[in-house]
Amino acid sequence: SFKLVRVSDTPSPPPNITSPTPLRLPATGPDSTPSPATNGSQSPLSTNTPSSEGSLALPRIIPIRTSSPSPHPDAFASPLVEKAGPRAALYWDPKTVRVAVVTCGGLCPGLNNVIRGLVNTLWYRYGVQNIFGFKYGYEGLNPATSIEVPLNPWTVRDIHNFGGSILGSSRGPQDPKIMADFLSSKNIRILFTIGGDGTQKGAKSIFKECEQRGYEISVVGIPKTIDNDLAYCDRTFGFETAVAQAQPPLLAAHEEARGARNGIGIVKLMGRDSGFIALHASLGSGDVNLLLLPEMNFTMEQIVDYCVKRFTEPVRGMSNTVRDHVLIVVAEGAGQNLCTPSGGLGRDKSGNQVYGDIGVWLKSELGKQLKARGIEHSIKYIDPSYTIRAAVVNASDAAFTLQLGQAAAHCALAGKTDCIVGIVNGLFVHLPISRVIEFRKKVDLRGPTFQAFLDASGMPIDMARQSEHKSAEQD
Ligand code: ATP
Ligand code: MG
Repeated sequence: SFKLVRVSDTPSPPPNITSPTPLRLPATGPDSTPSPATNGSQSPLSTNTPSSEGSLALPRIIPIRTSSPSPHPDAFASPLVEKAGPRAALYWDPKTVRVAVVTCGGLCPGLNNVIRGLVNTLWYRYGVQNIFGFKYGYEGLNPATSIEVPLNPWTVRDIHNFGGSILGSSRGPQDPKIMADFLSSKNIRILFTIGGDGTQKGAKSIFKECEQRGYEISVVGIPKTIDNDLAYCDRTFGFETAVAQAQPPLLAAHEEARGARNGIGIVKLMGRDSGFIALHASLGSGDVNLLLLPEMNFTMEQIVDYCVKRFTEPVRGMSNTVRDHVLIVVAEGAGQNLCTPSGGLGRDKSGNQVYGDIGVWLKSELGKQLKARGIEHSIKYIDPSYTIRAAVVNASDAAFTLQLGQAAAHCALAGKTDCIVGIVNGLFVHLPISRVIEFRKKVDLRGPTFQAFLDASGMPIDMARQSEHKSAEQD
């Protein structure tokens, strides 16, 4: 009988219910295995992690403010999530269960750390010894292209010291039927999908295909988005590392800008649809004068005017001093209406829209327009994206990815499925895949963090104000 616990995405009780009903009963059937992770010979696990099911009413935990509400706000006004952590009873027998791991989509700092956290927890905490990595994303789950990598504490022992993913990655669709055939032919009962929104949609389609066939499988995602735009979650791995890694290029661009008369430094940072990296990196730098985010709706004229102002207007209270340089941070998804040719640039293999290069475009356009106004200047452009994506995580993300890997291992062995592990208001939780792919978090241009940047930088407030209308409209 089918007893896997699909993390529920049913609408939760109305907010005025004070004691929330639990999600669903844990999978503690008569044949379930006592968990070595809760009563093993090693140090007992902390009592504040649930050894039985913990469910939480989410108004206490969420709502996370986003400028773009969920398409169905009523359906998720008061969602429930489960606390992550080890359970008293396991659904899968660690001695026999066979586990697969894939990493898909673009690189992000911390992929190897998640793999290592997962593998070591499965192996040492539970005694799982059949763990297989499949290389190059979902291509690894197609027998025509599959490359298997054995995963054990020995093969993962050093991988946290390197960026990238030992399992590689890919984009592009694979037939869920073929992947389900592949998984069942190998008797894989736990699949970990480390990847972004596309990956988790893929994970869902694999789960659905398996469910339809009555093939029981725990599909547990570890969501990857360097942009930190995952719905409902405080933080995703790699984000803090990206913010830290952006500092040297920002410092360099600032020096380049200050080193020339009317110098301009432009740094392009990641952020396809949400500008969190650009915003937090700019706050971290303290030297950024102009910040261009995907959430904003700016014109070239505003940018040129602001540069000219900084070149010519005296600093307040210092009539003989002008600012004479500009440091601009632009997120990759900003100004797409300006830099993408009409008709667009098509889509990548996974169906994601290809974006125009706003950094290169901005450098060239700003140069042209300043020249047209007769202003001598010098522009230096830095695009550190690939060095950031492939970086080794900082200590904070290392700790975070380790715990995500652990949480995912506990979650899967308890027989949870169709879910991801994430962090919400500081707690590790399980969330249904269907919820976290509903929308993306966006920078709130009326929120305190963006305001902090405006206050710190002197960026003209009208560039942000004019933008409000776009961020309210998006999604
Ligand atoms: P990134 O953050 O780098 O965009 P991602 O996981 O979103 O990560 P994608 O390339 O979009 O990266 O998707 C990864 C894999 O998931 C690809 O193999 C892709 O074909 C598959 N995928 C994407 N969208 C879907 C979908 N709607 N249904 C099934 N599979 C999907
Ligand atoms: Mg994606």
